[in-house]
Amino acid sequence: MTVTHLECSLTGERYEAGEVHNLSRAGKPLLVRYDLPAAARTLTRESLAAREPGMWKWRELLPHEGEPVSLGESETPIIALTHTGGPNLLVKDEGRLPTGSFKARGLAMAVTMARHFGIERIAMPTNGNAGAALAAYGARAGIETIVICPAETPAINVTETATYGARVYVADGQIDECGALVGKGAAQGLWFDCSTLKEPYRLEGKKVMGLELAEQLGWELPDAIFYPTGGGTGLIGMWKAFDELEAVGLIGPKRPRMCAVQAEGCAPIVRAFENGAEFAERWENAATVATGIRVPKAVGDFLILRAVRESGGAALAVSEEAILQAVDDAARDDGFLLCPEGGAVLVAWRLALERGLISRDERVLLFNCANGNKYPLTDRSKRLVLADADPSTL
Ligand SMILES: *Cc1c(COP(=O)(O)O)cnc(C)c1O
Repeated sequence: MTVTHLECSLTGERYEAGEVHNLSRAGKPLLVRYDLPAAARTLTRESLAAREPGMWKWRELLPHEGEPVSLGESETPIIALTHTGGPNLLVKDEGRLPTGSFKARGLAMAVTMARHFGIERIAMPTNGNAGAALAAYGARAGIETIVICPAETPAINVTETATYGARVYVADGQIDECGALVGKGAAQGLWFDCSTLKEPYRLEGKKVMGLELAEQLGWELPDAIFYPTGGGTGLIGMWKAFDELEAVGLIGPKRPRMCAVQAEGCAPIVRAFENGAEFAERWENAATVATGIRVPKAVGDFLILRAVRESGGAALAVSEEAILQAVDDAARDDGFLLCPEGGAVLVAWRLALERGLISRDERVLLFNCANGNKYPLTDRSKRLVLADADPSTL
């Protein structure tokens, strides 16, 4: 085990590993710290190449070394959207993971740790994909799961989550309001709170995106990363992963500009970025088709903003019409079905080009965080009466 301790992300206060944790005493996320010189001895380009592919090969930079709770977390491909944006516009397609979204790796890690600590019941608020992954890994681990979703959660997520045997409640509020109820139950000892960044291990699973992309791109990070930002776990996790990779000698000091992408109907991080604020105010009346990024208030707001600013990146808000158009464009031009959140990052890339924040010859990595088939699509098919059909008119 290379874990040395945990640390409050705001105050730096130290916490022991080997104990169950939620937020720090300051009410902020805890970060797992490792003995990186020790990790560097065995985590090398050569040793990695010889290991079974997937998230668990990064064991020196993960909090658990035993048998994981796993559903086969494959390495997700990076694909160029050649027709939509040219050879330098790359997408990491996280929709290929178990449960069809990038929530899988984080919750595989969180549930592995929950099982390790003997936790028997876990709960979380969700806009859909996180709850589905929690329920799937919970089922795999034999841990009871309770999930509370806002009413606008895509139906397929709600039914999928219930199919894994989770108790699913659809509530009349936003995800942070559902989260308040989960927190109340946790305080009463009813369950363990698995909300985004309120337990420290999901971030470690999520950061594997950063480790994986570095290896896939030949240990040369892209010029910019566009990330659909809700709770921001992935962005914060990748930023942490890059520092760890440099500390173990796998990459140099070059970092991508981190671009946090939100919808105009829910853009608390963009507003805080533009105002120069360290923390983000809650966004009232949040609404967007990109439900994965409909997060009015994120507990890791300052960590997202820090990564964006330190990297020289940006925070960009995009419109609903543009999101839907971008999904159509990538589907028609490149045969790639983005989820709406993936559509949002494609819009943001176009916006960044227009504003001169990025150029076409820079290598940019977009994140498609879920399978496009998990969302309702417009039916554009035509009806046909076979008996009367004339093929020459089709
Ligand atoms: C959860 C989710 C996001 C937001 O991820 P964070 O790391 O919490 O910011 C984006 N897109 C999809 C499809 C999601 O499910």
